[in-house]
Formats: sequence, structure tokens, C-alpha cells
Amino acid sequence: MDEKYGGLGVDFGFSVIVNEEMERVGTGLTGIGLHSDIVVPYIASYGTEEQKQKYLPGCLSGDIITAIAMTEPGTGSDLAAVRTTAVKQDDFYVLNGQKTFITNGIQADLLVVVCKTNPQAKPPHKGISLLLVERNTPGFSHGRKLDKIGLRSSDTAELIFEDARVPASNLLGEEGQGFVYLMEKLQQERLCVAISAQVAAEEMFDMTLQYVKEREAFGQLIGKFQHTQFTVAEMATEIQMGRTFLDNLIAKHMLAMNVVTEVSMAKWWITDMAKRIAGKCMQLHGGYGYMEEYKIARRYRDIPVSAIYAGTNEVMKMIIAKNLGL
Ligand SMILES: Cc1cc2nc3c(=O)[nH]c(=O)nc-3n(C[C@H](O)[C@H](O)[C@H](O)COP(=O)(O)OP(=O)(O)OC[C@H]3O[C@@H](n4cnc5c(N)ncnc54)[C@H](O)[C@@H]3O)c2cc1C
Repeated sequence: MDEKYGGLGVDFGFSVIVNEEMERVGTGLTGIGLHSDIVVPYIASYGTEEQKQKYLPGCLSGDIITAIAMTEPGTGSDLAAVRTTAVKQDDFYVLNGQKTFITNGIQADLLVVVCKTNPQAKPPHKGISLLLVERNTPGFSHGRKLDKIGLRSSDTAELIFEDARVPASNLLGEEGQGFVYLMEKLQQERLCVAISAQVAAEEMFDMTLQYVKEREAFGQLIGKFQHTQFTVAEMATEIQMGRTFLDNLIAKHMLAMNVVTEVSMAKWWITDMAKRIAGKCMQLHGGYGYMEEYKIARRYRDIPVSAIYAGTNEVMKMIIAKNLGL
């Protein structure tokens, strides 16, 4: 982020390191990367100078926590079908609708809200706009903080907008361009999910390799059984394949190359791979793997969502197929 707003002026490689280290120690804090590498870039890319001056310094110091509200109770994958509306009245947009599964939802001071400023637009995605909504906006309230099976250190919530009055000056970018902005920024979001899943797989593998070198059964180390060795060899291979593909992709993304198809490939394959690794690693831990006192148990609960959020893995395959001309 630009130094003039209080940023460090460093490139995305810095964020990659921060995201990797946060995942390596198993924080489960997806909201931090979401703020820094997903939501704040919307303001930096599409905000007016006035919006940047107002919000970016707080976003960079950590005084302003952000969230992005796309998903609704009735629609997630089909983003163009969102039903939250924003009707312009004088100098305000009157916002009505509900959002769910929103990371940082409870804690956020500022939200990028995906809404329809033209519900009649054809095709529907052309009616989508993005609004910057502050926490204390009249008519905006929180629903439940949701009870997840994993990522419990990350806040995920429902949001409610009932005639919420948002200043018209809080429109982000241009009316009707919201879907285009989302498609541009979702690349980095999906790349971040792939990065976290890759590191999670590496960590699960390392802790399991250690375990099979210590645990004995039938008078020998479980790592001496050929089945264990083959399982470990397969996991090491998949993890190395993921790492090599991912590092190459990060470099291309930093060079601003078009990596839409490859990011979709990395997102589905690496998150699926990490889920496979979680299952195999828990199995190699035996009963201890099912106990919360062993780190693999929490990793096993945390990883499946990576195949769901930032666009499900099925949606990733739709994008790949579309880009292959199908
Ligand atoms: C912990 C967590 C944090 C999240 N954080 C955020 C956030 O910060 N902001 C936000 O806006 N959203 C967030 N989400 C929402 C997430 O992005 C959605 O859950 C996701 O996009 C899927 O949408 P859905 O849940 O409505 O599932 P649905 O769209 O109902 O999909 C259900 C199933 O059908 C499949 N499916 C749907 N359409 C097709 C198709 N055309 N072909 C084949 N299969 C299909 C899907 O792949 C999935 O398996 C979060 C979700 C979770 C669980």
C-alpha cells in the first residue's frame, strides 16, 4: 500500500510471507489476510482520493477493520443473483437486504457491501454496485455470530440492512461496475486461499512425519510399515507439486500477468489436496489424531472450508472450463 496513506510501499510478496507465517503457526485467523489483501485493495484500486484519505490510514494502522459482504442467505455461488438493493434518494443510498457468512462481520468498522443499484438490469450482473458501509450507519445491524465447526478464532456473521442510509459519496467506483471489480479482485482472494491451504498441507505433513518416526505398533515404528511409507511418499509428492505450481503462480501474479485460469486451478486442486492430506494425517495419528490436544485435529476441522469460500471448488472448475471455450 502506498506510503502516502501510511503503507509500507512493499509488494504482494510481503503479504505472501505474512499469510504463510500466520498459517504455519495455525492461527486460523482468516480475517487478517481478508482485511489486508482482499478488502483494503478494493478501496485502494477503486476508491476516490477522498475515500482513500478517509479510510486507508485507519485500515493500515489497524484502527479500521474491514469486511466484504457478498453472500446472502439465498445466494452464494451465483453472485449476480444477490437481492440486497440500494435505492438512491437525494444524497443517500437506502440499503435493504441480508448478508451471511461474512468474515470479520461482527468486528468490522467498514464493509464493502455488494448490492443491486439496478435490479432490472439485463444481464443481472450489470446492476451490481459496491457500497462502503460504516459500522454506525443507521439501519445497519448484526445478526448472529455463526457457530462454525472450524476456524473458530475467525469471526463469521450475519448482517442486516433495514433502510440503512449510506451517503451517496460512499459508492465505490462506478454504479453497475461492481461485478467487474469483484471478478478482478477475487483472483488475489483465491490465491490467498491456495497459499494458506498449501502451508496447512505442509504443516500437517511435517507433524505427521514426525509422529510416524516416534509411534510404535507391533514392535516397530509405524513409519516402517510399507503402507505408511507409500502414504508419506504420496503426500510429499502432492505437496511438492502444489508448492511448485503455487510459487510460479505467485510470481506471475506479482508481474500482473493474467492468471485467472491458473488461480482457479490452484484454488481447487491445492485445497482438495490439503483436505486429502488432513484425512491421511489424522489416520496415521490413530486415535490421538481425533483428540483436540493433537494439532492435527484442529487442522482437520479448519481445512474443509477452503474448498468452499472465495468461490467453491465447483465454481473454480466452471471458470476453467469456460476459459477452455466450453
Ligand atoms: C467460514 C466462511 C467464511 C466466509 N466468508 C465470507 C465473506 O467474508 N464474505 C462473503 O461474501 N462470503 C463469505 N463466505 C461465503 C462463501 O463464499 C459461500 O459460502 C460460497 O461462495 C458458497 O455459496 P453458498 O454457501 O451459498 O453455496 P451454494 O452456492 O448454495 O452452493 C451449494 C453447493 O452447490 C454447488 N454449486 C452451486 N452452483 C453450482 C453449479 N453451477 N455447478 C455445480 N455445482 C454448483 C456449490 O459448489 C456447493 O457445493 C464465507 C463462508 C464460510 C463458510
